[in-house]
Amino acid sequence: MTAKKKNSLLIIDDEKLNIKLLTHILSPEYAIYTATNGPSGIKIATEYMPDIILLDILMPEMDGYQILSELKRYEKTKNIPVIFITGLDGKKDEEKALALGGVDYITKPFSAIVVKIRVRNQIQMINQLRTIEFLSMHDHLTKLPNRRNFDERLHMEWVRAIREQTTISILMMDLDRFKAVNDTYGHEQGDNVIQNVAGIFRYSLRRPGDFAARWGGEEFAVLLPNTPLSGALDIAERIRANVEGAEIPRSGGETLKITISIGVNSQAPTNESAVSLFLSNSDKALRAAKEAGRNNVHSMATGSAVPVKAAAR
Ligand code: GH3
Ligand code: MG
Ligand code: MG
Repeated sequence: MTAKKKNSLLIIDDEKLNIKLLTHILSPEYAIYTATNGPSGIKIATEYMPDIILLDILMPEMDGYQILSELKRYEKTKNIPVIFITGLDGKKDEEKALALGGVDYITKPFSAIVVKIRVRNQIQMINQLRTIEFLSMHDHLTKLPNRRNFDERLHMEWVRAIREQTTISILMMDLDRFKAVNDTYGHEQGDNVIQNVAGIFRYSLRRPGDFAARWGGEEFAVLLPNTPLSGALDIAERIRANVEGAEIPRSGGETLKITISIGVNSQAPTNESAVSLFLSNSDKALRAAKEAGRNNVHSMATGSAVPVKAAAR
């Protein structure tokens, strides 16, 4: 396990003394970025994606309200919580700040303890939200992305492949005779095998864009953006061989063996292509791999049920 990374925050304030004071208060707990004007604050926010922003209102050039509006315009920065910290103490100012989407409002002169607690409250909320987001998008057993996550990614990559006229490939995978593993060694050992296979995907995939997910049960899917059929077949064969070669540890120092069947499908989608057909053909390829005897790789020409190539074993 790597050490937990510190949460980060960005302070945007034109008064250097305020920055110094806030840094002093908050730097024991957080990694701090600072900016003395709006444009450089927005640049830092976009580049470093701080967890939270402390924002002054009265500043020359661009005031805090304008900065917040600007941050809200961009996908990347619109969800970063902004706490106003300002000399303006009128009700109307606070109303305006909160109406624009600020999450909290602290007036100067501030109490160090209040600043610490209010920042901590927001950070706790962000961290909880992230945990919930992670749980909703990942499988509990393997920590791999789950099917919902895969569907979202597939949609995104599909649209990108249409736009950039590239080929997208998918591997549909199902462990062979897995019921027998459960029956012979027990369900817990079965779970352990599933976790180990997930680990094999992690080291078998090399490009950052490659995306492995637990499709359900002992079925997995891998998305390979910008990868033609030949490349996808190579990767599928690598995964198949790595699974076949793995000595999966089980209790008592023994090991067990498992194999996997893989269906491959590749397509350069256009606006006329249907992602559902792409998926169902991937499934057909997987079934063909099972029918061909398991522990192999099969591909399907999109839209036809004819195997175009069974990868060399
Ligand atoms: P085939 O080669 O045809 O795929 O045979 P199979 O035995 O693997 O058959 P199938 O894929 O239809 O069944 C998968 C079995 O995997 C069903 C279920 O008992 C088991 N299974 C599914 N999810 C889990 C899980 O999360 N943990 C464990 N231990 N077993 C699971
Ligand atoms: Mg299955
Ligand atoms: Mg199976």
